[in-house]
Amino acid sequence: MAIEQRVTRGGGKSTVATVTEVYHFLRLLFAKTGTQFCPDCDLPVEKQSPAAIVKQIETAAKKGALKVLSPVVKARKGFHTDVARWAERQAFDTLYVDGALIPIAQFRRLERFKEHSIAVVVGVIDAKRIAKARNLAQRALEIGRGTAHLLDSKNRLTVMSTEMSCPNCGRAFEELDPRLFSFNSPHGACEECGGFGEIWDQEFQTAAEETSDSVLENELRAERESEWIDATEAHECPSCHGSRLNAVARHVRVRGQTIDQFTNLSASEAARKIDKLKFHGTQQTIAADLIPEIRQRLRFMQNVGLGYLALGRSAKTLSGGESQRIRLAAQLGSNLRGVLYVLDEPTIGLHSRDNLRLLDTLAALREKGNSLVIVEHDEETMRRADYIVDLGPRAGSHGGEVVATGTLRDLERSKNSETGRCLKTPLSHPTRKSRRSLGTVENWIQVHGARANNLKDVDVRFPVGRLSVITGISGSGKSTLMHDVLLPAVIEQLEKRKRSGNGDLFKLVSGTEEIEAIYEVDQSPIGKTSRSTPGTYIKVFDEIRNLYAQLPV
Ligand SMILES: [Zn+2]
Ligand SMILES: [Zn+2]
Repeated sequence: MAIEQRVTRGGGKSTVATVTEVYHFLRLLFAKTGTQFCPDCDLPVEKQSPAAIVKQIETAAKKGALKVLSPVVKARKGFHTDVARWAERQAFDTLYVDGALIPIAQFRRLERFKEHSIAVVVGVIDAKRIAKARNLAQRALEIGRGTAHLLDSKNRLTVMSTEMSCPNCGRAFEELDPRLFSFNSPHGACEECGGFGEIWDQEFQTAAEETSDSVLENELRAERESEWIDATEAHECPSCHGSRLNAVARHVRVRGQTIDQFTNLSASEAARKIDKLKFHGTQQTIAADLIPEIRQRLRFMQNVGLGYLALGRSAKTLSGGESQRIRLAAQLGSNLRGVLYVLDEPTIGLHSRDNLRLLDTLAALREKGNSLVIVEHDEETMRRADYIVDLGPRAGSHGGEVVATGTLRDLERSKNSETGRCLKTPLSHPTRKSRRSLGTVENWIQVHGARANNLKDVDVRFPVGRLSVITGISGSGKSTLMHDVLLPAVIEQLEKRKRSGNGDLFKLVSGTEEIEAIYEVDQSPIGKTSRSTPGTYIKVFDEIRNLYAQLPV
């Protein structure tokens, strides 16, 4: 199984939670222990068995006299004289109209263009007549089509229902199903963004739905679209606010928490949250099967140094190293044995602390009965390897030979292995023994009040004309400081533009007077077209073309 650093590109709906399967178990947890709330009224929608309703009436009646009502009109405009006539024919004597009890004989037609709610009083019950509860409940639920109300002497209304419907507006809901929480399913996906959580352009999104019979046309269209997605700034879906789910799914709560609130948490925060959840009764039995699965996968994420990643984060925004480690975390949950895992530089971009945890994780995979082959420059990884293959001796056409194989000790003893020599007697830096003092630095680039992303009002400075390193554990804000603060700030100063627009990210950057230009050397692919070569990119090919153009034919 090759665990690559491939970054999922364009249009994919995968998130950190789906890749690690945390989401699979979260969906089950929410479907089985969640409570539906009405998106319009924010009231719990809970259906009860008829027996439970009888019991509720009995319990309430012991405390005082109650009226049992059946709702017949829910927030509907009209005179509603027909309702009063019907109730009279049924031999009822009282209606409950817009919050007030009215004897049917005194009923006058209502205001036509106002919304009215009407219930009919089916019967009265108190401690002495408790035996009536069963018949009353049955009758009231029949007339109210599964819903009945209790009205006490203080005019307090309690709603009871055998259906999944909102006690206030009567909106009906489906039984909870894991598909409701899937943004890959029409049951769960936000209607506005189709489950992507972001919107590109109305034109583009409708165009995506058209399909043609021609395979070539479809392929060309798909390619145009993916270029489009790459080139265009997507913005958060205004309907689901990036949660990818529809309103019904976003209004199911487990212990007061919605599934999108949960996926907004980082893996570490989610692990703490899940430990605090308490369940009772049958829910406890269900949760006992699901919680350990979720907890274990969150721990795997922490083990590979990804505890800081938000569960709902789109997989396509992860760096190559993060993508690879998250796939590794997913593998840890599989409990496979007899697998050969092939990894290319899994420690890339990791802080030493997370490096050790990752190596422990790889060792754990080995202990389960698997084999691992890892391409790696990292010294710690080599020191922990059972067996090392050193290729060389040089690069390109001067390489391609096995220089040394064996344990670390074997490699160190080998005369030909450059790697072994470095491991045995590491080069000490600086090679000329001492470093230049910073006391002689005249200019510093100063950053004040950097607040981009997780940066907390940071003041920091960099010496001009020296080599500086920003370090820290994964997710601590290194890239943010460089990419979202230093780079745009210096560009802005170079362009002598007013410091507008980025005011939220930092307060002030100074000391860039000595800087002539700024270049970002990143790891993104070069060139838009596949015709770019190293020769054209560094422009050596221009010179070669000129030379050939000057030659005689
Ligand atoms: Zn409602
Ligand atoms: Zn949406």
